[in-house]
Amino acid sequence: MFKARFNWMTEEGAQTQNDPLNPRSIRHFPHGDLAKTYASCLALLPLAAGLASCGSSGPAPEPVAALTPATYSFGIQTVGSSSSAQALTLSNSGNAPLTISSIALSGANAASYTLATGAEACGTTLAANASCSIYVSFNPTEVANTSATLTVTDNSAVTTQTVALSGPATVANGPGQTPDTRAAAMLSLMTQAEKLNMVQGAAPNNNYNYTVPRGAGGWVLGIPRLGIPELYFGDGSVGVNQGIGPATLLPSSIANAASWDLSEATRYGTIIGTELADYGMNVSLCCNINNPGREPRYGRTFETKGEDPILAGKIAAAHISAIQAQHIVGDIKHFSFNDQETGQGTASAVIDDRSGRESDLLAFEIGIADSNVQSVMCAYSLTNGQYNCENGYLLNQVLKGDWAFPGFVMSDWLATHSTVNAALNGLDQEQPDHEYFSQLGAAITAGQVPQSRLDNMVQRILRAMYAEGIFDYPQTIQAIPAAADAAVAQELEEHGAVLLKNAGNQLPLNASTIQSIAVIGLHADTAVLTGGGSSQVLPSSGVLPGSYYPAVPGWFAVVWAISSPLNAIQAKAPVANVQFADGTDAVAAASLAAASQVAIVFVSQWESEGMDQPTLGLTDLTSATPVDQDALVEAVAAANPNTIVVVESGGAILMPWLDQVSAVLEAWFPGQSAGPAIADLLFGTANPSGKLPITFPASDAQLPRPVIPQPPDDVTPFDVNYEIEGYNVGYKWFDSQGLTPLFPFGFGLSYTTFSMTNEALVNNLASATNPNFQVTLTLTNTGAVAGAEVAQVYLGLPASLNEPPKRLVGWQKVLLQPGASQPVTIEVDQNDSSQPMSYWNTTTDSWQVASGTYTVYLGNSSAMASLTTVSTITVP
Ligand code: BGC
Repeated sequence: MFKARFNWMTEEGAQTQNDPLNPRSIRHFPHGDLAKTYASCLALLPLAAGLASCGSSGPAPEPVAALTPATYSFGIQTVGSSSSAQALTLSNSGNAPLTISSIALSGANAASYTLATGAEACGTTLAANASCSIYVSFNPTEVANTSATLTVTDNSAVTTQTVALSGPATVANGPGQTPDTRAAAMLSLMTQAEKLNMVQGAAPNNNYNYTVPRGAGGWVLGIPRLGIPELYFGDGSVGVNQGIGPATLLPSSIANAASWDLSEATRYGTIIGTELADYGMNVSLCCNINNPGREPRYGRTFETKGEDPILAGKIAAAHISAIQAQHIVGDIKHFSFNDQETGQGTASAVIDDRSGRESDLLAFEIGIADSNVQSVMCAYSLTNGQYNCENGYLLNQVLKGDWAFPGFVMSDWLATHSTVNAALNGLDQEQPDHEYFSQLGAAITAGQVPQSRLDNMVQRILRAMYAEGIFDYPQTIQAIPAAADAAVAQELEEHGAVLLKNAGNQLPLNASTIQSIAVIGLHADTAVLTGGGSSQVLPSSGVLPGSYYPAVPGWFAVVWAISSPLNAIQAKAPVANVQFADGTDAVAAASLAAASQVAIVFVSQWESEGMDQPTLGLTDLTSATPVDQDALVEAVAAANPNTIVVVESGGAILMPWLDQVSAVLEAWFPGQSAGPAIADLLFGTANPSGKLPITFPASDAQLPRPVIPQPPDDVTPFDVNYEIEGYNVGYKWFDSQGLTPLFPFGFGLSYTTFSMTNEALVNNLASATNPNFQVTLTLTNTGAVAGAEVAQVYLGLPASLNEPPKRLVGWQKVLLQPGASQPVTIEVDQNDSSQPMSYWNTTTDSWQVASGTYTVYLGNSSAMASLTTVSTITVP
């Protein structure tokens, strides 16, 4: 009942309409005190009993008798020979209750121990003749043979009780060991209930009026007895999710991919990772690497890294590595073929093995191999008739088998469909609740799932936690460096925006000579558009009042981030008369444009999880009375030949007015520092250097599926035939069909010009130790201003393979001062994770380099006209 389980999303829309100032109210688990009730109940009970019985009510309180003198007795119970924890049993041998006022650690090595706090440490009252347990765990930075003293103070005649603690002589799960060894040591200490705890989200089943602690998107309970920390899952495709707190809204992920620069991707991931850590999140729900080349109307295109598996995989890997460097378990999603939101939970991708391996799966393969990401999120949808979260081919055969992925598979939120089937087919953790995996224990007892499978799930989760330092580097919750991060957001936008047209060098504008500017477009005076869904950020710059209204169609609310392009443009040209029209009245906008030297029109295309674009044509989904933005641009362009269009979108749009305007800047969803960034780009303080990571089609009719396949109803799986394009995704589709797009993949202009000379090929493929080829060239900035160009290498495979005419295999972005030249070497390693020279051989079930002639192209976009043939390579 997929759709039914998502009714809450619709309710959120209604709720947020009434509560526009509460961004948390559109988080998945928006309100309620149940979190606290459930957590305290679990904390009060031994874990096994707690998991079984913590439902609506906790245990009844003990009756309190009159205080009389009493004594304790301590008993130390060492858990396992290489224990990381000790349970100390505190027994009250008297006949009256004791009130415990403090439990403390002391001694030279006290810092090596962690004392469970609050209710987990016996509570404050110990009844007569009762006992309780105090859990003391060794901090994983421990060394062997440390010791400390535990002191309990109460209000009885016996005021202080002490007990000596001592660590084991050897520490099997200490930091010197491998993550796998440490995980195995920890696993050996765990009870069955503790293991089951690790494989399920702690949110109550089917309770969407629920707030996860710390505003996280998901939560797994910690196990104080063993010192296993809680896991807090935070979304972060374009910045930290809004439910967690105000954060830096970065330009869309696709803008970062448009930088074609892995160091920019590292900066992007670092902002997200550090801010997640500052909010106490230790699992990141980034990075969406689904392929918008299959469905360019995909509503989450803004979260992706574009249509090319190699570019997307490499950019995603850099994001994830930077996030994991902050001691956060990274995630890559949504595995796999979740390339349309229409019928998201029931769409079944029909795809053959070779096509899948060379497209969507290749992006995952690279992203996983290059980043050592520790978790993979399986998608809502189906692949070849099997739900992705119980798809043995994807999870067991490809991911854990062929790719030897050692981490864990978590379900997308409520994407689990079964207990036994999911467990056997590779799902390791249900999120965010435990509707199905709460029955895993029973399934094991009944012999339907082997115990070894549960052990393997827990081993994978624990090894991920050890690998990323979750045990070794506890987080410090602190304020995010908002101002510094906002400055980085501006630079990232400046490096990701793509200049698509610049007739007659309309841009950059000359701040000292321009006298009047018309700024036109919805909210261009105050704010910029953001993408909707679980990746929504509450920008630290604030949101436009009135945001969080429901869009049509879609589950999620529309949010405009505060950042004023108008003010930033005025600041750049202080003497110019800069006037604004919101564009709802095309006639008024055109008359303002006619009276101005230059008109800058901001058009926007809202995009969100939970829906796809109805068409690639501009469609205003954000206004009660939709604005016809194409007509607006045409009216303005007719009134003023110096019309510049700035596009705020998550992906490709159609531009029926392209011939009528002088310049087009694709700003993507530009983030919270958009105003200054866009002004810098328009006035040349920053020189555009972004290149399209997606093809911009000329029409919907050019797509493999001109109309998006629709579900028959909310529950019945329906086929989406990806074998139409197979591995010819994105520009490869356009190449293979001989179609001319509006703008090709890899395209982007600059305010300067470049030349590529001395192209040559160095062929080392015969070398066993260095099986690569290199393209060498001289890149020269032949213009008058500094700028960056991306030299792109494409490869045509032997014709016998029937592969697309060419594939991107390497690139390098180079910043050059005017007149400067630089020798560039682009290396293509045959053994790289991107399999640049290989095709997927379905007979051997492996990547293979075929015999034949390979053609090497060099240029600055995927369009044949912008490429030169460097040379050919013959593989015997
Ligand atoms: C999305 C995921 C997201 C999760 C948790 C789901 O709706 O598909 O991308 O990580 O929610 O917020």
